[in-house]
Amino acid sequence: MAKEKKQNLNLETMRHSLSHIMAAAVLDMFPEAKLGIGPPIENGFYYDFDLPRTLIPEDLVLIEGKMRKIIKRNLPFEKTEAPIDYAIREAKKKKEVYKLEILNDLKKALPPNRQAHGKQGRGIMVSFYRTGDFVDLCKGPHVKSTGKVGAFKLTKISGAYWRGDEKNKMLQRIYGVAFESQKELDEYLKNMEEAEKRDHRKLGQELDLFSNPEEMGGGLPLWHPKGASLRSVIEEFWKKEHQKRGYELVYTPHIAKLDIWKTSGHWDFYRENLYSPMMIDEQEYLVKPMNCPFHIFIFKSKLRSYRELPVKYAELGTVYRYERSGVLHGLTRVRGFTQDDAHIFCTPKQLENEIIETLRLVDFMMGTFDFKYNVYLSTKPEKAVGSDKTWKESTKALESALKKTKVKYILDPGEGVFYGPKIDVKLEDSLGREWQGPTVQVDFNLPEKFNVEYVDEKGNKERVVMVHRAVLGSMERFIGVLIEHYAGAFPLWLAPVQAVVIPISDKKHGKYAHTVANLLKESGLRVEVDERPESLGRRIRDNEMQKVPYIIIVGDKEMTSKKVSVRSFKKGDLGSKSTSAFIKEMLKEIEEKK
Ligand SMILES: [Zn+2]
Ligand SMILES: [Zn+2]
Repeated sequence: MAKEKKQNLNLETMRHSLSHIMAAAVLDMFPEAKLGIGPPIENGFYYDFDLPRTLIPEDLVLIEGKMRKIIKRNLPFEKTEAPIDYAIREAKKKKEVYKLEILNDLKKALPPNRQAHGKQGRGIMVSFYRTGDFVDLCKGPHVKSTGKVGAFKLTKISGAYWRGDEKNKMLQRIYGVAFESQKELDEYLKNMEEAEKRDHRKLGQELDLFSNPEEMGGGLPLWHPKGASLRSVIEEFWKKEHQKRGYELVYTPHIAKLDIWKTSGHWDFYRENLYSPMMIDEQEYLVKPMNCPFHIFIFKSKLRSYRELPVKYAELGTVYRYERSGVLHGLTRVRGFTQDDAHIFCTPKQLENEIIETLRLVDFMMGTFDFKYNVYLSTKPEKAVGSDKTWKESTKALESALKKTKVKYILDPGEGVFYGPKIDVKLEDSLGREWQGPTVQVDFNLPEKFNVEYVDEKGNKERVVMVHRAVLGSMERFIGVLIEHYAGAFPLWLAPVQAVVIPISDKKHGKYAHTVANLLKESGLRVEVDERPESLGRRIRDNEMQKVPYIIIVGDKEMTSKKVSVRSFKKGDLGSKSTSAFIKEMLKEIEEKK
């Protein structure tokens, strides 16, 4: 997070010092514990331990208590240095296998003449920090004494492979959060609690939106009917808005010959994100990580005149990219996802205007979903293709489009893609968290690699400029973020079930409930009838838990007056109204997308 980037060194030192204090507390509880590593992280710190038994949540309370005692004693952090060989002998003696591994690796990486402390004394020294009886191999720095660590809390225990490698032993990691003041800590914890309530993985299950059973493999979510309904509403909206703006929809397959990705450069630049090729008719094929080359082939299927440009192809294209299993997360980090992709083929002269149009579309879309957003301009990375001239030109086009649309942006040097600079948009959700959102990338490279041309006014063949852009990013991530943003209480136009009709008595009012539901359905509304043999109160509560925007209750009174009683999820009891008037209200609310 941007705020976190500015975080001062002090806070990091404090957090890391807390990891030492935690290790001392854990060793006090388990003298036979072996230490892994204990770095500071965003918002706090952790330490990895090899312990004689699995920790339980109650242990955190005990460890925290021991830590507070150490803090109270205000023990100094004392630095000592020793030759690396001495450190290795000590680690062996204490059977600190993980520290030993770190030391041995450190030694191996040194030039031979610095590995040992010979007569010339040229071997390197390593540093240790002591607090009370606890000594840890560490580069530092640390706070002066244990009393100077701010406010902290241990938050969770999880498994972590030693050095992040699945072939190694699984250690136990204890996480803590820490801030300079108790007030900041309390604020953070409150925010976390709210975020936890909104966790899209939890809500995804409770609201029956999606799942990812272990049998499927990680990062491959299944969309349940309600999740699919939500997604399809967004997709239809997306298609309509794109067609309005001159985009043409296309569909492309999921696999293609590997050679395409060699030509595009992805095979060289993105190898670690690509899956292994498969053999078809003795030819190598790859499951697609991008849609770009496919759209290029559609463009190239005939000779293009300058009069046709810009050509804009849009596709909800599903791509597959490798992500390490440790980083997979619900819908927001997956291995197969659907990009709301589009490629604009234009002349260099049209480029700026196309970027402006794209930025306007981004603004419209983000506004529709109530997202604030921050804009970043990413420039040439270290590993890149193309001449300095084309990089300069394309960066200038992005910059001037940003200026003309009066969008405030932050420069992000070196963060462009290998083939061109880009505009990155980060969404800010209702909790103020930033998420990867829309991107707009200028590309002179692929048109060159695939020789993508048009015929200009004078009849000469010229190369097109390509813009890659995604407005939502991917359907998976966007909807994952959207679930958390709205805490599962979707606005009416998105809600998978927009209204539930509850007959007070199934026998007496069931038929009328269905008549009402059918009227709503005929108007295109998504409606269900809840006739379960449960009490009225229970059925109202259950549907409120499902965050259904409107609950319609029908009984004797409603039947005789031909009306419905309506409860709104957000506004509470709305009283009774005629069915047709209520349908009109709902349709208006949907139209306004509020
Ligand atoms: Zn340290
Ligand atoms: Zn692309």
